Amino acid sequence: MQIAQNSVVAFHYTLTNDAGEVLDSSEGREPLAYLHGAGNIVPGLEKELAGRESGEKLQVTVTPEEGYGENQPGLIQEVPIESFQGVDDVQPGMQFQAQTQGGPLMVTVTQVEGDTVTVDGNHPLAGQTLNFDVEITEVREASQEELEHGHVHGAGGVEH
Ligand SMILES: [Zn+2]
Repeated sequence: MQIAQNSVVAFHYTLTNDAGEVLDSSEGREPLAYLHGAGNIVPGLEKELAGRESGEKLQVTVTPEEGYGENQPGLIQEVPIESFQGVDDVQPGMQFQAQTQGGPLMVTVTQVEGDTVTVDGNHPLAGQTLNFDVEITEVREASQEELEHGHVHGAGGVEH
């Protein structure tokens, strides 16, 4: 069957940036499973998978606008180290949930200088062109329960 609204799709993928560096891959893992049309994966990839079938291989290039968005300088902030109460040793690369006016936001520590910590609320892949190498391994109808939850259950999806 062809991938359409409410299909459950499983696929293997390798994600590289424009420099050819592998950013993520399902190699050695279960294929990733998602519910088509539910916004489970980046819009640019979801769009290209529509109408495809199990067994197909494709390469998809996703621009930042259809991926994780452009880098927004306004999401980079300097905060005093005292705001990290309960954290012994704040280090670059650590991620924290920050409370913002727009709701909770995942931020990554990018720099620690004395008592000042720089945090970045952009997605780590924001501003990057994403190159996906995809192999579709399964296409099936979603169950009623999966449609209600808006995600896939079982292998490659949500276990609960
Ligand atoms: Zn669920």
